Amino acid sequence: MDFRKIIRLYYDYVVPCYTKTPLVLERGRGTRVWDSHGDEYLDFFPGWAVSGLGHCHKRVTEAIKRQSEQLIHVSNNYYHELQGVLAEQVIRHSFPGKVFFCNSGAEANEAAFKLVRKLGNPSRHEIITIERSFHGRTLSAIAATGQKKYQEGFEPLMPGFVNIPFNDFAALERAITPRTVAIMLEPIQGEGGIRVADAQYLSSVRRLCNDKKIYLILDEVQTGMGRTGRMFCYKNYGIEPDIMTLAKSLGGGFPIGAMVARKEIADTLQPGTHATTFGGSPLACAAALAVFEAIEKEKLLNNTVITGSYLFKKLNELKKKHRVIKEVRGMALMAGVELEVEGKNIYEECLKRKLLINCTQGNVLRLMPPLVVKEKEIDRAIQILDEVLAAQSESGLNIK
Ligand SMILES: *Cc1c(COP(=O)(O)O)cnc(C)c1O
Repeated sequence: MDFRKIIRLYYDYVVPCYTKTPLVLERGRGTRVWDSHGDEYLDFFPGWAVSGLGHCHKRVTEAIKRQSEQLIHVSNNYYHELQGVLAEQVIRHSFPGKVFFCNSGAEANEAAFKLVRKLGNPSRHEIITIERSFHGRTLSAIAATGQKKYQEGFEPLMPGFVNIPFNDFAALERAITPRTVAIMLEPIQGEGGIRVADAQYLSSVRRLCNDKKIYLILDEVQTGMGRTGRMFCYKNYGIEPDIMTLAKSLGGGFPIGAMVARKEIADTLQPGTHATTFGGSPLACAAALAVFEAIEKEKLLNNTVITGSYLFKKLNELKKKHRVIKEVRGMALMAGVELEVEGKNIYEECLKRKLLINCTQGNVLRLMPPLVVKEKEIDRAIQILDEVLAAQSESGLNIK
């Protein structure tokens, strides 16, 4: 179909709630995607952190093909083989507990909120969340999300959420009341600009939660599935949550979310208390099982640690060279480059040079290449960024 026609149909018939880049993507493989003109791009933000194994990973596409010919969906009132098998995989890689399957990050968080509310009922219902967090776009998720821009126009917000600053333990101590039932945080804030939780902070939070009998919910929707060099980011911290939420790269591109609850609390959601029609379908489970298999058999955690440290070495070299870079933050293959200027131009110039990245919070470039990325691809991305930053400073972008 003609490029203009594709765009026109979109504006005529699709609710325009997304900021769009005029790029029609047709095909992808690994770290590459191709647009409708046949141009090739190096994708360092594949599917908004969904395609964690890169585009169309062979194991995922094969699993989807195979399963789609056998059984795509069944009602959750029957059993199918793969749901328990996948739940066992998730638990084997995390902590003793049980899994509720859904279709997205917001839904996984919603399930976590319902679980802790049921536990706290009737006296405790407040959930503490963090400023600049991101937990999704449903009404409960935007109430949890500590950013006004996602809430404006949708008031009244769902009650029961309290926001505090990140990495500020004293603020957490002050925020706890007899009504507090849980605290929820991202170990590394993704949309918030790649802000990493301090190790000291997280272990203090864990200890305080134990003391006060408050549940610790970690939103690992973006940090999970190997992104930080461990299967789940909390493993870098030597602590364990009571509840963890997953989505994004769990299905290797196929929609699936999960809420993982510690054994002692998992049975809180009894028949009739919670459900979702599509959650944990045979097809979604087959895709997610292929993701676990790929990470293990292809030793992708190891690759993530090695290529991740290479990426940070290269980004820190760029920082030395370009004054416009204020800070480089993150962990393994989750990198943020905070600029002294708006990042929109840099994003657009990278796009012109066929590198796809992301810009969040106005001035933080976000790079999350797939776990299969190779050093020479990182070299290429760094080279493009280097050229773009050099051109920008020549054109005299005023540095604050
Ligand atoms: C993307 C994201 C969500 C929301 O996931 P959806 O699948 O879009 O609902 C929640 N939490 C975090 C940390 C995310 O990055």
